[in-house]
Amino acid sequence: MYNVKAYSATSETSSLGATTIPRRDPNEYDVQIEILFCGICHSDLHSARNEWTGAIYPIVPGHEIVGRVTNVGSGVTKFKPGELAAVGCMVDSDGTCVHCKEGLEQYCPNVILTYNSPDKHLGGVTYGGYSDSIVVDERFVLRVPSKLDLAATAPLLCAGITTYSPLHHWGVTKGKKVGVVGIGGLGHMGVKFAHAFGAHVVAFTTSPNKKEDALQLGAHEVVVSRNDNEMQQHAGSFDFILDTVSADHDINAYLNLLARDGTLTLVGAPPTPLAVTAFSLIPGRKSLSGSTIGGIPETQEMLDFCAEHNITSDVEVIPIQKVNEAYERLLKSDVKYRFSIDMVSLRSE
Ligand code: NAP
Ligand code: ZN
Repeated sequence: MYNVKAYSATSETSSLGATTIPRRDPNEYDVQIEILFCGICHSDLHSARNEWTGAIYPIVPGHEIVGRVTNVGSGVTKFKPGELAAVGCMVDSDGTCVHCKEGLEQYCPNVILTYNSPDKHLGGVTYGGYSDSIVVDERFVLRVPSKLDLAATAPLLCAGITTYSPLHHWGVTKGKKVGVVGIGGLGHMGVKFAHAFGAHVVAFTTSPNKKEDALQLGAHEVVVSRNDNEMQQHAGSFDFILDTVSADHDINAYLNLLARDGTLTLVGAPPTPLAVTAFSLIPGRKSLSGSTIGGIPETQEMLDFCAEHNITSDVEVIPIQKVNEAYERLLKSDVKYRFSIDMVSLRSE
């Protein structure tokens, strides 16, 4: 065991600050990674502030991790010291259930998340990527294509895969009309992927100042969702809508935009329940569904797809000392479009 620097919250009302956490020495199949960049996901904020309940303190958030391998266990075959590597939202799973066997580890009942999950090695809970280094079983470590910019790649490990996976699962391709609701970290990646998959993409935003950007990101049309007129022009027309909104909002307004047999998938996870009227779904045989991140094979596929198509996240790189300010800005939808922490800044703490 060794100690590393990290940033943690010690209660749901405290801001994040510098601390020290333990990491295990690499076991036979472990990869030790020096963390170079870590994205800030809205889930980090929900978790640090215990908005979903279940937070165990101190909590060290961060599940959009890229870095360099510093050491590997004797049984590791996929990685060598000096190589780039990435870790997303999961660090372990049982490996034996039907979900794991299909490469859908995110649905494993025994999945171990990167932070705030039981740590079978050291006891207590797992600690995330707002830290100097991390030790992870090689099955949960991803390869980073060398041509990608690292700061802009980190967000792919959550925002990227969380939008890539449902767009694929629900068959978004050329000829489909797709909506992406909320142009934040997830949403801006959803627009990029839906565009790359050939769909006709409509971005929905509450922020008129994101209109031009959304077109640049790949949307064919942008709707300011607070404008009823603009919304009504799209009534009954969408094959698929991906909802990435982090707070309570009127989901019926979007269900009404689905065509017959259309699907609205929630990836945004507001802490309070969303109200759905039956008559938003019944006429038109519409579906409301959810999706969480993506499995390890699909995450690797997504990273390779990004390298091939030159896709990364639009990031604002910040030092870790600005993380609390970044959380406040996230709440104001004031980020274009993902904060990526340059972890070198933690070395000076
Ligand atoms: P984010 O960067 O804060 O983006 C959320 C966007 O939602 C905002 O930029 C804003 O877009 C819109 N929004 C915010 N408040 C709103 C409100 N009151 N009404 C309407 N729209 C509002 O957050 P993120 O990191 O993309 O995460 C989004 C959500 O997905 C969070 O709840 C997060 O926990 C969840 N998440 C889920 C998964 C999963 O596996 N399912 C993975 C990662 C994250 P506009 O300014 O364009 O309106
Ligand atoms: Zn996330």
